[in-house]
Amino acid sequence: MSAPKEEFLIQASSTQGLAPYAASDASSHGRRHKEEAPSRRSEYQRDRDRIIHCSAFRRLEYKTQVFVNHEGDMFRTRLTHSIEVAQIARTIARIMSLNEDLTETISLAHDLGQTPFGHAGQDVLNECMREYSGFEHNLQSLRVVDELEERYAAFRGLNLTFESREGILKHCSVKNAQTLGDVGERFIKKQQPSLEAQLTNLADTIAYNNHDVDDGLRAGLITIEMLLDVKLFRDQYENVKKEWKDLNDRRLIYETIRRMINHQVLDLVDVSQKNINGANPGSIEGIRKQSKPLIQFSENMGAQVQDLKRFLRKELYQHYRVLRMTAKAERIIKSLFDAFINDPRLLPREHAEICNTAEKELGPAGKARIIADYIAGMTDRYAIAEYEKLFEPTHLT
Ligand code: MG
Repeated sequence: MSAPKEEFLIQASSTQGLAPYAASDASSHGRRHKEEAPSRRSEYQRDRDRIIHCSAFRRLEYKTQVFVNHEGDMFRTRLTHSIEVAQIARTIARIMSLNEDLTETISLAHDLGQTPFGHAGQDVLNECMREYSGFEHNLQSLRVVDELEERYAAFRGLNLTFESREGILKHCSVKNAQTLGDVGERFIKKQQPSLEAQLTNLADTIAYNNHDVDDGLRAGLITIEMLLDVKLFRDQYENVKKEWKDLNDRRLIYETIRRMINHQVLDLVDVSQKNINGANPGSIEGIRKQSKPLIQFSENMGAQVQDLKRFLRKELYQHYRVLRMTAKAERIIKSLFDAFINDPRLLPREHAEICNTAEKELGPAGKARIIADYIAGMTDRYAIAEYEKLFEPTHLT
């Protein structure tokens, strides 16, 4: 008997051990532009690899999470945040026999459309784009992978699978969804995305809540004493203190945070698996037809997570030092947008040409969208440099 072909072994391993309702190559809705199946990787491995090699991914290194990139080398950036999301999401996917490659792809891609300066950047760009159907970072992440990346001879964008695109588009208004074809349908029909997309969404929440505690403490904007009002923190902190009497603060904080993450992940896995067993979805299509997400925290944990979010919003994101940077960021982005929309000839030549063509084809909204793409694609430091070039009289242009 001859040995099975290597090709066969590789194909088989890509779905081995997956739950019947996990995303898989076999049940994928495919790519917008038809391509041959990859011979030695799964479809979602190929998507993940395309994300890692794209330029928007590299730029995440210099984009703000909460603290602006130049405020310190120890803080999270969008890149390290995305890697932490991927770590948490893959752990959950593996425990639940879901598709790890797809969760990794969605995690690494979920923030590709983020503007410089974090939420402040997105909010002000949305305001600038109000007359032109707004700016939303989830939609922009999809636009990056569908349109803006230019790497392949045969198509624009990265030509990712439907499941990766479905996961990247976390939220979307019904109005926008109507312009997006298949990937927008679930927002109109009120359906769910894959379990991999659902769990990555919550892994994102777990990652940022917990790393923002760490970064906030490190920056001295919040204190352990303040955090003792938050049950999620207090419970784990007290456990660590009981077990380890003489830990220094750094190790005490990290040990507490790692236990917080673990506690949330285990709660989520438990509750979600019960939900899945109860719903008995059978296949990924069965998941999509559910009226609400099956991946969830318990009610008790959900409330504690909300409580931590509220704490961070009040004590960290509204801290005067964060707000000062937010105010600067808003001025920079608004000034850049106004300058370019009033005179697109100020754009670098390549962007000016695209802007010109878009204006001819789509009118003022087309022009505005290209300017928003240009600004959203900037890193924090690039945006600051562009601002100086445009507005500092003695700065070299
Ligand atoms: Mg995120």
